[in-house]
Amino acid sequence: MSLVLVVEDDPTIGAALESALGAAGHSVIWKRDGSTALESARAAAPDLVLLDLGLPDVDGLTICRELRMLLSSAVIVVLTARREQIDIVSGLESGADDYLTKPFSVVELLARVRAHLRRSGSEGSGNDDVSVLGSLTIDVSARRATIDGVEAPLRAREFDLLVRLSRQPGVAISREELMADVWDENWFGSTKTLDVHVASLRRRLREVADGAPTSGSLTVPVITTLRGHGYRLDAGRPTV
Ligand code: CA
Repeated sequence: MSLVLVVEDDPTIGAALESALGAAGHSVIWKRDGSTALESARAAAPDLVLLDLGLPDVDGLTICRELRMLLSSAVIVVLTARREQIDIVSGLESGADDYLTKPFSVVELLARVRAHLRRSGSEGSGNDDVSVLGSLTIDVSARRATIDGVEAPLRAREFDLLVRLSRQPGVAISREELMADVWDENWFGSTKTLDVHVASLRRRLREVADGAPTSGSLTVPVITTLRGHGYRLDAGRPTV
């Protein structure tokens, strides 16, 4: 289990990061300004810090330098809305290990966080990257979903969607949350694309299940539609 300190004053982005990191199995402390973030860093010694550069109280680069002095071995990832190369360079010179420019997708952020934590040794050898739901196995680091050993040919977004649903099996997840986590936190367009991806994800999983050379029965999770809300991944019934 790793501890991630999120320093972000934007309530929407902060809440999205907190929930996505929590769902991915990290402990999260979320601070909205630089001075309380430094207090938390001192008290809790996080493994990784996600640091927004545009903070209300202190300049983000100053916080970055102070965090680096406090936390010699922690990974610091700078989040910047500013695309100017100079901010990225200044961030890295101030002790950051990596940066993400907003808007970024939560899936990309989680992948980055996981890679950094693995490299820095704060996370175990990564079996938590594999989830087994009945006959379905999802290997996140290999980006492979298999049913009874047969790989499902999923497109990138379909795989991301399956991973997001599988993080909380049996839990209703709203359309907005799925769009934000799988597509982009700043998604304002139609959510029709979500339905299209769910439909093709269902179809591909069913095709693999139907064609699997199994001798016994299969239990493939199903994606349940929740009208007016979103979707839920449920344990499927065993096939005969
Ligand atoms: Ca900000």
